[in-house]
Amino acid sequence: MRSGRIYLDANASYGLLPQVAEELRSLLPELAQLGNPSAVHADGQRARALIEDARREVRALVDADPHDRIVFTSGATEANNAVLRAPFEGGRKGRVVSSAIEHPCVLEPLSALESQGVAVHLVAPDSSGSVSAQRVDEACAEPTTLVALMLANNETGALIPVATVAAALKERSPATRIHCDAAQAIGKVPCSFRALGVDSLSISGHKFGALSGVGALVVRAGSAPCALLRGGPQETRWRAGTENLIGIVSMGIAARVVRSSLEQRRAEMARSRGQLLAQLREGLPELRCNTPLEESLPNTLSVTIPGVDADDLVVALDLQGVALSSGAACASGKPDPSHVLLAMGMTEQEARATIRISVRAEQDAQKLYEAGAVIIETVRRMREAQQRRSA
Ligand code: PLP
Repeated sequence: MRSGRIYLDANASYGLLPQVAEELRSLLPELAQLGNPSAVHADGQRARALIEDARREVRALVDADPHDRIVFTSGATEANNAVLRAPFEGGRKGRVVSSAIEHPCVLEPLSALESQGVAVHLVAPDSSGSVSAQRVDEACAEPTTLVALMLANNETGALIPVATVAAALKERSPATRIHCDAAQAIGKVPCSFRALGVDSLSISGHKFGALSGVGALVVRAGSAPCALLRGGPQETRWRAGTENLIGIVSMGIAARVVRSSLEQRRAEMARSRGQLLAQLREGLPELRCNTPLEESLPNTLSVTIPGVDADDLVVALDLQGVALSSGAACASGKPDPSHVLLAMGMTEQEARATIRISVRAEQDAQKLYEAGAVIIETVRRMREAQQRRSA
């Protein structure tokens, strides 16, 4: 981001971690000379070695067993689409249980499956923004092919009890596949594939400090093969196409960095969020916090500021150098209010008055304080202008 600006939109894209930028810079002369990782010559084999190093780092980051599969993808969208599509290839029917607060890259493939005759049940969140394990369990009373749940919500930061769901379900219905979209959780809270007990997990590089356009699908050893892309031997035939070498290398570095400093990063994010929330509450006492602070990503703050148009506020803040979002960035630009906030029971008006602030662990406290002051001042000015218009 440009200097002088204050970036509070880490859930949209974290930005490159300084350590990743530095290591990539020193690797670039070598990367620029390397060959195709599938080639047998030394230039190809060095590229292959870098990819396998990155795979080891990602495996360690998500705490997967040595035999679990790590398939590099273009991001979590691709991984989620592939996992949802696989059991129903060739027009097979079945049933999926998911939640109403999933990312569009889960909800839209589910709508497509529904129109092809697959039964889809979306569990509603509670008012805290989380999804109750019991309600998911009840929804799985009928035979269910696949359960797809996110580990943390991108808009509110609410954590979803995926491990509890998986433990109950695996006991009762071992044939049901369980997929977890961990795109937002990685790098912010501990995430163990082993402990979650799910069959597959998707992650996204740019959400934790790597380049964008790279991610991974983690698949439990022994799972039925699922071709994400066909037409080549790459990724042991799970995903054809020449690998995104620099993206994968960047994700390996980011994985190493966030794994070795997770607790410290978590504490820094929580400190920043706490500081900003206290400042906003003092300056704007009518503000409502939608994030369940005790059970959430430490960096995410969804707040409703009654009477304010969030889209206008985001534009006004951007002009003053503060970047944040009025909902999910991937969905911004669309006129509809956030499906997550509506599913939590908000009115359309409340949803349209809601902003999402998501901080990075590297956030400077003084700069954050300045951003808080700009937000408060801008809201006051917008309100005054509104009052003048309606007077
Ligand atoms: N899942 C969640 C929860 C997300 O927040 C996002 C992006 O915002 C995605 C998936 C998509 O990830 P990617 O950009 O890697 O495709």
